[in-house]
Amino acid sequence: MPELPEVQTIVNDLKKRVCGRTIVDYWTDTPKLVKKPAFKRFLKEIKDQTIIDVQRRGKNVLFFLEGHNRNKKLSEMLTHQKMTGHFLIGKWNIGKKGGKKFSTPETKGPISSDKYNNYVRAIFYLDNGQQLGLSDLRKFAKIMLGTPEEIENSNDLKQLGPDALSKEFNADYFYNVLQKRKKPIKPVLLEQSVASGIGNIYGDEALFISKINPLKKSNALSKRQVRTLIDAIKSVLKKSLKLRGTSSSDYRDTYGEKGGYHRIRLVYDREGEPCRICGEPIKRIKIGQRSSHYCPHCQKM
Ligand SMILES: [Zn+2]
Repeated sequence: MPELPEVQTIVNDLKKRVCGRTIVDYWTDTPKLVKKPAFKRFLKEIKDQTIIDVQRRGKNVLFFLEGHNRNKKLSEMLTHQKMTGHFLIGKWNIGKKGGKKFSTPETKGPISSDKYNNYVRAIFYLDNGQQLGLSDLRKFAKIMLGTPEEIENSNDLKQLGPDALSKEFNADYFYNVLQKRKKPIKPVLLEQSVASGIGNIYGDEALFISKINPLKKSNALSKRQVRTLIDAIKSVLKKSLKLRGTSSSDYRDTYGEKGGYHRIRLVYDREGEPCRICGEPIKRIKIGQRSSHYCPHCQKM
């Protein structure tokens, strides 16, 4: 799933590439991606909307839209790329094959040659002839359109904790939260209501940098350890953002390119490979439903 660095990379791209453009049409073979309003109404309302800003909130991408009617009504579109979604900018032809609609990339380069870019489920047609596509292998992505008030008050945004890169996510705040929790630290790190933007990749990386075992009970962390962990989270997120994120499986940026952090990752998705500090093999365990990668030697209980 795209996490803070991947979503921020997409948002930075979109700010440069689609801000100021007007959406003239929408195509999809997966209407269920639109959760709100009813699909027919969405189709009607999304047309003739100008994208005036794009922002990240947690792992959500928010499009701020302005209507073309006389009162220039403002709307907001929330999108969550979930497990395998990513936005691409290019041009696709919609044809018919075996009775089913499909999309064919017209663009050359990574967008068309990489299979992970070829699951385009939805296309926003823009007034400059470009298209904003949403590639989503597993079809879990989410699109919601409403007034700014409706979207800002939706559970998707209201339940988010402080952004992992914000000042509000600091040692005092985090230590207080962890004092009340007995669960292992790793799953708590992934809770978006505790801190938004962190997922499995950067959770594993930050715990390794802080030498904290992922199974350590949250309320057993000392204030010093919490401070170290906060610093590690922020530094690894910033480092990955500079490298345009991690492409461990299907994540791509809006050009269809992979992120660069995967090459230098410390523990995530490195099961059996030698620890970059002590050489011991990296271990993978399940905590809850999710995999955790760590070095048993460097991250002792
Ligand atoms: Zn080690």
